[in-house]
Amino acid sequence: MRVLGIRVDCLTFKQAVELLATWGCGGPTRLVATVNPEFVMRARTDAAFAQVLESADLCLPDGSGVVWAARRTGCRTIERVTGTDLLAELARTCAARGWAMFLLGAGPGVADRAADRLRALAPGLKVETHAGSPDASGDERALTLIQEFGPRVLAVAYGAPHQEAWIARNRDRMRVPVAIGVGGALDFLAGEVSRAPAWLGSMGLEWTYRLLVQPWRVWRMRVLPQFVFDVLRQW
Ligand code: UDP
Repeated sequence: MRVLGIRVDCLTFKQAVELLATWGCGGPTRLVATVNPEFVMRARTDAAFAQVLESADLCLPDGSGVVWAARRTGCRTIERVTGTDLLAELARTCAARGWAMFLLGAGPGVADRAADRLRALAPGLKVETHAGSPDASGDERALTLIQEFGPRVLAVAYGAPHQEAWIARNRDRMRVPVAIGVGGALDFLAGEVSRAPAWLGSMGLEWTYRLLVQPWRVWRMRVLPQFVFDVLRQW
């Protein structure tokens, strides 16, 4: 379905995990985006980003604002599928099947600490990391490391739209069945940024907590009132 013209797939967390576990078995690289209202608002003015989202195999409903908008448009079964929760669950799937995971991006040491956390959640998980750079100059090095390790799942944490752009330009060369843009998920897993309490998340107010712990986000979040206004007006 579409939220303000941008594709969002109407599915539950369980369905998303099952689909990705199936894709992980092999085949061409599937580009998976974790969509929130900031994505939607950016894609409306950034044609290149909109095109990358159109080319995605899956646009997961990451933000509560996107879930709220999708429900208003008639998708009753939709659930939030955050990059953080998804990575934890995929780590368990990978460990159980003997598949490897690769974490690309995030600040110095963050991906390594996120990998430690995933190993604790999914004992036996094979996981490798590389900070690299969202800039194309770092692609060759990153691709070499990824291809040598041979993961089934690649998580790219460069923030939107850089992480989706990274996957889109390298998807034909990486030889990984599932590549997901995960935003700040590695920061959360590493304990770098504290996550909102579950009760706040269930009320759809996780963004208020994020604003509290990372006040610089106010500039990026300035589009949220416009998102709500446009959804209500369209409805
Ligand atoms: N990041 C990076 N290199 C960059 C820009 C961003 O590794 O040049 C990382 C950053 O450290 C963070 C992630 O990309 O781990 C982006 O997280 P952000 O919180 O912006 O994503 P969101 O969850 O808001 O989409």
